[in-house]
Amino acid sequence: MGTKHDISRRNFLKTAAALSVFPGTGLSFQQIDATQVNNYGDVLAITADGHNDPYPVLENKTGLKIQKIETFHKNSTLGFVKITADNGSVGWGQVSTYDADISINVLHRKITEHFLGEDPSDLGILVDRAIEANYKYPWSYVCRALSGVDTAVWDLLGKHEGKSVCELLGGRPRPFPVYGSSMSRSITPEDESERLKKLYEKKGYPAFKVRVGSVNGHNKDAWPGRTENIIPSVRKALGDDVKLLVDANSCYAPTKAIEVGRMLQEYHFTQFEEPCPYWELEWTTEVTQELDMAVSGGEQDNELATWRRMINMHAVDIVQPDILYLGGVTRTLRVAKKAEQHGIPCVPHSANRAMVTLFTLHVMGALPNAGDYVEFSIEDTPWAENIFAPEFEVIDGKVAIPSGPGWGVTINDNWLDGAKKRVSTVENT
Ligand SMILES: [Mg+2]
Repeated sequence: MGTKHDISRRNFLKTAAALSVFPGTGLSFQQIDATQVNNYGDVLAITADGHNDPYPVLENKTGLKIQKIETFHKNSTLGFVKITADNGSVGWGQVSTYDADISINVLHRKITEHFLGEDPSDLGILVDRAIEANYKYPWSYVCRALSGVDTAVWDLLGKHEGKSVCELLGGRPRPFPVYGSSMSRSITPEDESERLKKLYEKKGYPAFKVRVGSVNGHNKDAWPGRTENIIPSVRKALGDDVKLLVDANSCYAPTKAIEVGRMLQEYHFTQFEEPCPYWELEWTTEVTQELDMAVSGGEQDNELATWRRMINMHAVDIVQPDILYLGGVTRTLRVAKKAEQHGIPCVPHSANRAMVTLFTLHVMGALPNAGDYVEFSIEDTPWAENIFAPEFEVIDGKVAIPSGPGWGVTINDNWLDGAKKRVSTVENT
């Protein structure tokens, strides 16, 4: 306990007064009207002042009706969503990566009916309706599918207003710092150190994240000694100017997590992600309280009630919702807002270079409590290349938030030509 929590509290007191609405035009947070959403709104209730959870609404209705929702996928990895309104305007989004074919099936079976025929500016209400209607299926694929529709609607709303989504949320498109995120545990400490050093010299990443322990590892390492070696090794290779983060992917029980955390602190690492099985909130809280370094987590968490508990108990020092696991930008903004009200920074999980990183750049460019940098995968993933233009480019450790309307990108026609297409329309629903 101690220093870092005092700082969080101070930041909260300093900023709380100014943050009741988004600073941009046209978008504000509004208290949920319980009659509209069947009391679902209080799941993320702000208990300190008794208010219900705010959610983002557009002040001006578009007057449009969503007429058609199409999906495009080639394999189980990647699936795009295209929404067309009755005036012909369109928006593009993406369901979550991995088993995208399952998400697309869920999208057409369980999600589209709640959006077709509706005004896209009612997004906050429509998202809650889609969740509530699927309450028997919490929440994974429902959220993964919903995120495709939600992100397509945001694109459409941005285009309708002639603004990037970042601007719509009150932010400003600009180059935004990114951290180089390693996904590998098969790489040796020596090779990882060498790889990061080269990337630092070439691209200027201000920070890197490496993997420690093993996934759901029950305290076991990827191989004996890897974690104890990689911590000093990458620090030595990169020097003291680069920030270093680790991800344990639910590896440790608290005692072992604290032991690893003390070693990380010794080498001036600044962030320890998912030290304990992520669903064990009390374990994570114990580690967070014991260590001086920041503990982060939340990428898997897709239930707003869990997010409320996690933030109220200060289970982590930095929240990392995944926009596409959580059900889209709308629900992510609610988690970010709740975190902001508790003085907690938000850095959404964006562990591949498909659209999730694009969405995250726009959101981070607008959040008052955005963390220092967006997660940016350093792995070679051909399936995430040439899918939209302009592509990401890391210059001096930053990636530009596109400034064009909506997400500011065009989906590559060559990719779409070979994709399997499915359509839901007002007529066939
Ligand atoms: Mg992670």
